[in-house]
Amino acid sequence: MGPQRRGPFSFEHMQRATKIVATLGPSSSDPDTLSQLVAAGIDVVRLNFSHGTPDDHRARLDVLRNAMRTHGRTVGVMADLQGPKIRVGKFAGSKVLLKPGQPFILDAECKLGDSQRVGLDYPELVGDVEAGDVLLLDDGRIVMDVVRVDGHEIHCVVRHGGELSNNKGINKQGGGLSAPALTAKDMEDIRTAAELGVDYVAVSFPKSGDDMRQARQLLQAAGSEAMTIAKIERVEAIANLDDILEASDGVMVARGDLAVEVGDAAVPALQKRIIRAAREANRFAITATQMMESMIHSPVPTRAEVSDVANAVLDGTDAVMLSAETAAGEYPVHTVESMVRICVEAEKSQEVSLDTHFLDRVFTRIDQSIAMAALFTAYHLKVKAIAALTESGSTALWMSRLNCGVPVYALTPEIKTRYKVSILRGVNPLLIRYIGHNRDELLREAESELILAGAVQPGDLIVLTIGEPIGQPGGTNTLKLVKVGEHRPAH
Ligand code: PGA
Ligand code: MN
Repeated sequence: MGPQRRGPFSFEHMQRATKIVATLGPSSSDPDTLSQLVAAGIDVVRLNFSHGTPDDHRARLDVLRNAMRTHGRTVGVMADLQGPKIRVGKFAGSKVLLKPGQPFILDAECKLGDSQRVGLDYPELVGDVEAGDVLLLDDGRIVMDVVRVDGHEIHCVVRHGGELSNNKGINKQGGGLSAPALTAKDMEDIRTAAELGVDYVAVSFPKSGDDMRQARQLLQAAGSEAMTIAKIERVEAIANLDDILEASDGVMVARGDLAVEVGDAAVPALQKRIIRAAREANRFAITATQMMESMIHSPVPTRAEVSDVANAVLDGTDAVMLSAETAAGEYPVHTVESMVRICVEAEKSQEVSLDTHFLDRVFTRIDQSIAMAALFTAYHLKVKAIAALTESGSTALWMSRLNCGVPVYALTPEIKTRYKVSILRGVNPLLIRYIGHNRDELLREAESELILAGAVQPGDLIVLTIGEPIGQPGGTNTLKLVKVGEHRPAH
């Protein structure tokens, strides 16, 4: 715990409630850029397992861990599994320009693509399409009509052209592809994710809660306790949303594929519905894809992007996510800085009123009831902070499902828990040592940790929750109002 742990950035970012997930890639893997991204305020990094090798991911994590130490910030790590996303292979020159009207072949046996054909990472696609089908590539930017299927070749004509680069996705309009949610590669990648010690694993294209339960089982078998995230990007996932939420720790509104499957115009309403359902189920939600898309090539966002990010904040998302903007864009740091600005401003504009329908909910757990009581008290007494002394992080999760306008500090002795709560809106992780398991000592340490972090000053009123006896997960049973510094013995 050197003095570097609390740089000038730490407190600034604690005042922002909405979290930022940044995808790492070629634009964000060098120590200097990654360090700047951490300083700029990223809360979670996403390792996209559709690209890169386990060694690439490992190298990025080493660089990230250094940057975290330098800036005294907690950054969680998400492994995003490729899933049965059907993607084109690689091109000799890493990309081609497709013109409307030109023929193009998706060839299951092509190794390295060119302007006439490209390979497929899912050879079975050949059996899933027929003449007349419409294929959408790269989140629908490129549209192709299937004219005929010939052995391992799908012959198409480009309807809407553009630049097509390595490993871009292919969707069939209307959905309905038969591939299973966890591929052999995903199962292998789950083991890699467990070895890397990631905090979150995102599952692509789950259709049901069972897909998520299977992912969790595989993770546990590999020795990982990572939280699971269901990417909602299939028509079937919308129908099974409750079961998927039940089986997952969080969801991602994966707007790229979702828009192709359900039609782009249906996505904004679904985004609101998914975020609301997640909160009600005590799950977190991430809003993803094209949030700051123009910033891949521009140092400023469009007005529409600013509104989109702000509206996701107002919808109650826990986190907003950046994909190519930080992975392959020209302005990764600018993009994060802009997102920070937009989130902070949107949060300020939000009217805080404790969502009273929680009054109708039944809480049978003591720890959950204490969490709700803490919110209620914090809201009415307008306290400076809620300090949740938590081992598992559950108390902080429950507190963050309703916005009471007061920041929650998850004070935990568990390093893992610090990362587990890094994605939760309004929750700031702080590490404390539970020395001696003595309650008074612990409370004093919590107070001085909050002061050192810049979160409170002597004299501020705070709400504190703690479990007694000290040191048992799930044991939160005490709610205390504390005036910071008041019971500090003079010395
Ligand atoms: P992807 O997921 O970037 O892995 O496709 C997000 C989305 O589909 O929006
Ligand atoms: Mn997707």
